[in-house]
Amino acid sequence: MSTGGNVLTTILDAPRAPEGIRLFGLSNQELSEALREFALAQYRIRQLEEALYRQRVSTLDEVTTWSKDLREKIAAAGFSVGAPEIAETFCSADGTERYLIACGDGQTVETVWMPEGDGGDEDEVEEAASSAAEPAKPGSRSWSRATICVSSQIGCAVNCQFCLTAKLGILRNLTAGEIAGQVAAVLKRHGAEPGRDRINLVFMGMGEPFLNFDAFIAAVRLLVEEMGIPESRMTVSTSGIVPGIVRFAAERVRPRLAISLNASNDAIRETVMPITRKWNIEDVMDAVRQVPLRARERITFEYVLLGGVNDRLEHADEVVRLVRRANFPAKVNLIAWNPGPDVPFTMPRAEDVAAFQQRLREQGVPAFIRRPRGRDIYAACGQLKKTVAAQ
Ligand code: SF4
Repeated sequence: MSTGGNVLTTILDAPRAPEGIRLFGLSNQELSEALREFALAQYRIRQLEEALYRQRVSTLDEVTTWSKDLREKIAAAGFSVGAPEIAETFCSADGTERYLIACGDGQTVETVWMPEGDGGDEDEVEEAASSAAEPAKPGSRSWSRATICVSSQIGCAVNCQFCLTAKLGILRNLTAGEIAGQVAAVLKRHGAEPGRDRINLVFMGMGEPFLNFDAFIAAVRLLVEEMGIPESRMTVSTSGIVPGIVRFAAERVRPRLAISLNASNDAIRETVMPITRKWNIEDVMDAVRQVPLRARERITFEYVLLGGVNDRLEHADEVVRLVRRANFPAKVNLIAWNPGPDVPFTMPRAEDVAAFQQRLREQGVPAFIRRPRGRDIYAACGQLKKTVAAQ
């Protein structure tokens, strides 16, 4: 009985977290502030960080470096781990997996796991070639490296005409914890360890990261500083939000940058990406020039080829002129458009995709064709929509 009385007293005395506070997603300083009234020593906060971000615990009860009493006290005050969790998994024949990840408020967000990468990077191509030469060892995993495609918003306001996510409109921004938590959930599912395994992140899922800038950049810091994923293994893609690019240029910790170009001139780009009316290609290029590039770093131009719209050789020549005028190190990733319901485009012909790449390359512009991944489960580029709409 007395024990029960003590517990009750402890619970009543403890500070209550307003409506429950999720600890996952908070930085060291934010954890210290959130738990200030418990007067925890800094090493206790570091133990919590280790549990949240390296061990990827689901409940406070799993924070075994803390005493049971401390865990119960914090939980009784309304705090929880609150990391996003995989609610549903769709598996593609090519090994790609698409997840619906529950954010805790009834909303879900989409994340994609692509073992072996997507072929959009020359380093990946070289590595894929070398790993293909080595037969898989018995008992080894079926992947040697992987790319996780991360969402930054639920839905998107940018309205690119070829994109299924655009059809949702914007439902809401994700928090830093919900962005980094997608990565934690997927790493946990695959038993992947960033220090040991080659894990790349692309912020190219649902949403426009630069329209949710603060949460996006806070998530990047968590991923780098708490989860140990180097920023050089991350790429963020923007549709060309100029103020976001300018802010990005001033960040100390920042991924590599990709510009979702998708047209060789403003007239075509306006028809496929109406955002061009606000910031045209030249505005975007001017902003990108402010980004201080690191050694060997290049800007990526993502170019979704739409059959008969932007996939002719004269468009390739225009892209070459754009890249030359841009006057910064750049490469072009070509993506054959992935079909989706109610999207009024056609796939480019395979020979046109190859000819487009060839035309860029022969004029000195590095160009790569991204392998379509997970088309059968709507995980491919521009296909993320799901299911949010169906719920
Ligand atoms: S392509 Fe990206 S920026 Fe454009 S509507 Fe889709 S999610 Fe938004």
